[in-house]
Amino acid sequence: MNKKTYDVLIIGGGPAGLSTAYLCHKHALSYLVLESGKAIFQGIANSYPAGKMVYPSKPKDAADPFMVDELRPPDKPVTVESYLQYVQHFVQHENLAIQTEVDFEDIKDERDSLTVVTSKGNFKGRKVVLSFGSNIPRELSVYGDAKMVAKNVDDAAKYVGIKTLVIGGGNTAADVIINILKAKREAKDTNSVYWAHMAETFDVNKETAQRLGEEILLGGNIRLLPGATPRIGEVDDEGVDRLVIRINEFKQSDGIDLYHAMSFPMQNVIACIGSQGPIPIFDKLSIQSIACAAGVCKIAKDGERLVLLTSEYESTRKGVYVIGGAISPSYMKINEGSIAEERHPNLIYTAINDAYYVVQAIKTKLGK
Ligand SMILES: Cc1cc2nc3c(=O)[nH]c(=O)nc-3n(C[C@H](O)[C@H](O)[C@H](O)COP(=O)(O)OP(=O)(O)OC[C@H]3O[C@@H](n4cnc5c(N)ncnc54)[C@H](O)[C@@H]3O)c2cc1C
Repeated sequence: MNKKTYDVLIIGGGPAGLSTAYLCHKHALSYLVLESGKAIFQGIANSYPAGKMVYPSKPKDAADPFMVDELRPPDKPVTVESYLQYVQHFVQHENLAIQTEVDFEDIKDERDSLTVVTSKGNFKGRKVVLSFGSNIPRELSVYGDAKMVAKNVDDAAKYVGIKTLVIGGGNTAADVIINILKAKREAKDTNSVYWAHMAETFDVNKETAQRLGEEILLGGNIRLLPGATPRIGEVDDEGVDRLVIRINEFKQSDGIDLYHAMSFPMQNVIACIGSQGPIPIFDKLSIQSIACAAGVCKIAKDGERLVLLTSEYESTRKGVYVIGGAISPSYMKINEGSIAEERHPNLIYTAINDAYYVVQAIKTKLGK
């Protein structure tokens, strides 16, 4: 456990998290950003297509300017690559305190602080700002600990020389497979890549299918496993964490099921099974959300759950604030005793300006 108690622990180093960090830095609040990716702005790096222009968009009715001008995308749109490069320089120049490759897991209440539990140990803070965006990777929902499964591929060469399992039936899974097949071909590795999907058919666009077909014709060794379901995570006799995936099942009349399964070391598995909104995380953290009853919400659909926040973005868990993409496109705002849906467009502008108001609120609460 890190012994220091920070004024503010910030989860996620995107526009919302970094703006919070910069403002804490300016107002002499001690802080630390915990980012799961290899670098800051990992959410943007992962989700924007290469060469995409970044626009300094503002909601039509927004009165405020960008409250942290330093992180505002330029008026003349630039590519995502140059925006990321600019932000990297800014972070280095300001010497912002960031730890990367740290996965946020949980929050525990202490007598006068909060403990943030992560993959790299525990951190203590007086306040916690959740700014982890809206793209939360889906979990495999198998028994046991499947956390060692990769969610994407940053270095395809890591999979050369081993039999790899890719789970997921869409373009992301196909892209990962193409990259691994290419790396294996260049290294003359003939080990198979297994491609498993729960449905009976795969669903990729024409351009991706063409690139995949090309890799297969150039010698790519791929085995398709349609209708396959990951079932359990287990530890084998040698202490290796493994993932067991059922590849077919036979129901018998005597009630005993027969099935074939394959077992892969978790480190050979990549699960490209998409992302989900943050509601399951709010549930885990006991942060209250409210379902939109018929006709109550204009943006969210009937039955959809929205996180409940004060006008200062504090959640029902005292000292825990939520900002940015994590509360878009709308949340439930408590205002002078009433609760109503509040529009919150998913933009860099809203992420930055949320940070401004949250730091103001925290400064006042901490008496700084
Ligand atoms: C394709 C695309 C194009 C867009 N174009 C524009 C545009 O031109 N202009 C504009 O204003 N907006 C645009 N947006 C929206 C904009 O990118 C988002 O509104 C903004 O990134 C939200 O910022 P954020 O900091 O809340 O979340 P994010 O940018 O998602 O940052 C969240 C960070 O938290 C990290 N994280 C997630 N989970 C954890 C965890 N468990 N532990 C630790 N860290 C974690 C992530 O790695 C990420 O770095 C676009 C969005 C997309 C998808």
